[in-house]
Amino acid sequence: MAKRDYYDVLGVNKSASPEELKSAYRKLAVKYHPDKNPGDKNAEDKFKEASEAYGVLSDKSKKENYDNFGHAAFENGGGGKGGFGGFGGFSGADFSDIFEDFFGDFGGGRRSSRRSSNNRGSDLRYDLSITLEEAYTGKKQNIQFSSSEKCNACKGSGSKAGYSPDRCTYCGGNGRVRTNQGFFTVQQTCPQCAGSGEEITNPCNDCNGQGNKQISKKLSVTIPKGVDDGTRIRLAGKGEVGTRGGATGDLYIFVNVRSHELFKRSEVNLFFEFPISIADAALGTTIEIPTIDGKKAKIKIPDGTQSGKQFRLKGKGMPFMRRGDFGDLYVQVKTEVPVSLNREQKELLEEFRKIDNEKSNPSIKKFFQKVKNFWNN
Ligand SMILES: [Zn+2]
Ligand SMILES: [Zn+2]
Repeated sequence: MAKRDYYDVLGVNKSASPEELKSAYRKLAVKYHPDKNPGDKNAEDKFKEASEAYGVLSDKSKKENYDNFGHAAFENGGGGKGGFGGFGGFSGADFSDIFEDFFGDFGGGRRSSRRSSNNRGSDLRYDLSITLEEAYTGKKQNIQFSSSEKCNACKGSGSKAGYSPDRCTYCGGNGRVRTNQGFFTVQQTCPQCAGSGEEITNPCNDCNGQGNKQISKKLSVTIPKGVDDGTRIRLAGKGEVGTRGGATGDLYIFVNVRSHELFKRSEVNLFFEFPISIADAALGTTIEIPTIDGKKAKIKIPDGTQSGKQFRLKGKGMPFMRRGDFGDLYVQVKTEVPVSLNREQKELLEEFRKIDNEKSNPSIKKFFQKVKNFWNN
C-alpha cells in the first residue's frame, strides 16, 4: 500500500505554518485517540499515521528532507541527507506497547509493573491426556517437563562471582528509551537490555549470563475429579523462573479427556445406547448395564418398550468439579430387528405374523386409518 502524503494526512497544504500543523494534528490525535476508539484498528492506524506525519513535519530538518525527497527520505538507504534511520523505528515498534508507555508518561503510575513484568519467567503449557474413567475418579499424575531454575553459581545474577552487572549503555540503566513523536514523548522498552537496565559484562560461566538454566522438572499434579476435556489447570509459580529477581511464570496443564468406547459425555451427563431384542422389548426384561465407576446397575425394561426410549439413572454421571454431586446417566434402548434367522425362528415368526392383531400394533393401525381417510376423500 502506498504511503499517503504527510500533508494530505494532516489535511493541510505545504505552506502551513507550524501552528497550523500542530492544530491539525491535535484535532486528528483527539479524534482517533485509541482511548476514545478502543479496539478500533482503523482509528489506531489513523492515529499512528497522523503522529508519524506530524513527527516529520514538525521537525524543521526532517520537513525539509520530506519536501525535497518525499517518503524516500526516510526509507532505509533512502536519498535523504544523512538519512533518518531513527524515525523508521516507530512503524516497526509494537504500537500497543508504545501506547501503554505513552499514557504512562501522562498519567503516571501505569509504568510501575512494567519493569518487573519484563523479567517474569515464561508460562509453560503441559498437555495431559487422560481417560474418562480417570476424569471420573480424579488422579495424581507425575509429570516431567523442561523448565528453568535459578543458576546456583551466580544466584541468578548472571554475573561471575565478584562482578556485578553494569548499566545498560543503550538506555543508561532506565530500561526504557524515549523518542519524540510530535508533541508526545514515546517510551519504549530498551531493545538492548529488554528493560532490565543492566548489561552483563562478566557473564557467569555456568549459565552464560542468563541467570538461570534449563532443567528437567518433575512434579506431582492432582487432577481433580470431574475434569472435562479442555480444562486448564493453573499451577501458579511452577513455570520458568524469572530473570534478575523477576517473578516465576505459571504452569498450565491442558487436559484432554479421551473419548470412551462406550460412554459419551455431555458436561456432567453420560449417555449410551443399549441394544435389546424385539422379544425383550415386547415382553419386558431387566437389563444389567455398566456404569462409569466400573460397577453395574439394573434397569427394568417394561413390556412394550419402544425403540429409542430413554432411561435416566440419577447420579450415575460424572462428578461436578469441586462439588460433591454427580450428573446422570442416560441409557437409550434400541431394539434390534433380528437377522440371519434359522428355520425354527422363521417358523415361529411366521406363526406370530398369522396371529398378530391390530391391538398389539397401535401405531400401524393409526397410520393405516389415516391412509384410508386420505384415499376416501
Ligand atoms: Zn549463573
Ligand atoms: Zn537498556
